[in-house]
Amino acid sequence: MPRHVAVLGAGLTGLSSAFHLSRLHPNLKVTLIEGQKQAGGWVRSSRIALPDNYGSVLLEAGPRTLRPNAQSILELVNILKLQDRVITVSKDSPAAKARYLYIPPEYGGTAQGLQEIPSSLFGLLKSPLTRTLVPAVVQELFKWNNAPPDNQDESVDSFLRRRFGSSFAETFGSAIIHGIYAADSRKVSIGAAFPTMVDAANRGWGGLVRGMLVPSRKQDPGSYDVGDMPNRLEGAAVFSFRDGMQTLTDSLEEDLKRNSNVEIIYNSPASSLEHGRDEFQINLAGGQTIPATHVISTVPTPTLHHLLASSNGDSLQALIASPTSTVHVVNIVFPGPPSSIHPAGFGYLIPRPPSGYPANPSTSRPGFLGTVFDSCSLADQDTETPNPFSYDNARFTKLTVMVGGPYPTPSLPPFLSSSEGPTSPAERQLPDYMRTVLDQLSLHLSQTLPDPVYWRVVPNRRCIPTLLPGHTQRIQELRSFLDTRYEGRLQIAGAGVGGVSLGDCVEGGRKAARNLVL
Ligand SMILES: Cc1cc2nc3c(=O)[nH]c(=O)nc-3n(C[C@H](O)[C@H](O)[C@H](O)COP(=O)(O)OP(=O)(O)OC[C@H]3O[C@@H](n4cnc5c(N)ncnc54)[C@H](O)[C@@H]3O)c2cc1C
Repeated sequence: MPRHVAVLGAGLTGLSSAFHLSRLHPNLKVTLIEGQKQAGGWVRSSRIALPDNYGSVLLEAGPRTLRPNAQSILELVNILKLQDRVITVSKDSPAAKARYLYIPPEYGGTAQGLQEIPSSLFGLLKSPLTRTLVPAVVQELFKWNNAPPDNQDESVDSFLRRRFGSSFAETFGSAIIHGIYAADSRKVSIGAAFPTMVDAANRGWGGLVRGMLVPSRKQDPGSYDVGDMPNRLEGAAVFSFRDGMQTLTDSLEEDLKRNSNVEIIYNSPASSLEHGRDEFQINLAGGQTIPATHVISTVPTPTLHHLLASSNGDSLQALIASPTSTVHVVNIVFPGPPSSIHPAGFGYLIPRPPSGYPANPSTSRPGFLGTVFDSCSLADQDTETPNPFSYDNARFTKLTVMVGGPYPTPSLPPFLSSSEGPTSPAERQLPDYMRTVLDQLSLHLSQTLPDPVYWRVVPNRRCIPTLLPGHTQRIQELRSFLDTRYEGRLQIAGAGVGGVSLGDCVEGGRKAARNLVL
């Protein structure tokens, strides 16, 4: 049989795998198999027409910003010629400089409510958070090496607690992990989540601050076709696209569709993966069977476990080791400029409750992880020159609340957006779900909020894997098992394998395409 690669899953990782494969091997036949009607996975951007002549707003149901140091993403932007569609957040803007924590009253102490995380010496002098931050950092610098034996992996909470003390770990550590993984920092692996911190601590004889003062050995950045993207992004803290993150996945999909050697099959979840002498058979839920000589799997790892389990016994436990978080993404558009709703900045995160996560969903306090002030960073998606965004004069404010993760997720409202549900003004009341979200938001922002112009709740079920301690080692062992068993003809990638950030996903797809033994 001529070489034929099946890529399972057309999220960002699968699209990146197929894209790089067909660039490396232009004559290779590639079939991309997607379970849903559309590609893109968790990347979903929508432009919504607002009522009452407010115009339209671009809302993200999944990821919203990218870091300029993700070389593999810059490469895609360059090759796909998306440069002119990029929007940036300057390092000097409030969205880059001002990040907040909301410290609930249960924490006690002087630092309560919305507190700006100091980003300058002056900020440090006046912030109530200084009492937690400064002693923790100074003590860490002089602390002996208290790493676990044999440099074993541990949780983010355990690492930060060991180095910076419990107050720092509970306040800052738990909030940051809420923001990135929608998870409990006591469960997430430091090695998988922050490998550069572990490297720095190793350089600094166990100390993170010491390690950051020691220059790291220059690593070969690899060869990426980034064009002039680094120059274009100079001075940018993060970036996105005028039409949202889906620009990236849509452009990859369009590029693949133009390639006559690539076929994309939609709406056809793979239901099993069989392996004969030197061929795979992928059975799809609709009854179709796709033969392939090679496979790159980018579907969630528990799904791959299900596809392969019958032929591999217990050897694939690593695929089901990571639990996943469910997150309700609540996009809200308020009338009036951001200055009337929230302080200028990126948004705020909330540390875990000192008394622990509740066992049952609360009707009065949905489990808030944090809120992103989208208008401060992504307003270019909604405005055009000659009317650039203004914090004080914009017509509306968009923000996004993240609910769920380690908290029990509340029951969904009877309708999921303000454009659904009853149409008569008398019946158009906010559902209880949204009322409690707005009450919490008012509490955090210390003000009464106007009724939204638009809102929607996007329930993202099982969307972010929690990479438990030992993840990196488990995946290494799994890769060598698969390489031996399938002679390098089955590669794995995706958020549950190589890390959840978009940069990790594109890089993972790129590597899988290169590692496939053709
Ligand atoms: C709410 C939210 C906010 C986020 N914010 C950011 C951010 O700001 N920045 C950032 O860097 N990252 C962010 N992330 C993380 C990032 O979006 C994800 O990690 C990334 O999109 C995962 O891509 P993936 O292709 O690995 O997986 P997925 O997107 O899950 O793609 C897997 C694909 O496989 C398909 N599939 C599943 N089962 C089958 C089957 N049996 N057969 C065929 N196909 C199947 C699915 O339909 C899906 O299309 C966020 C994630 C979420 C959920």
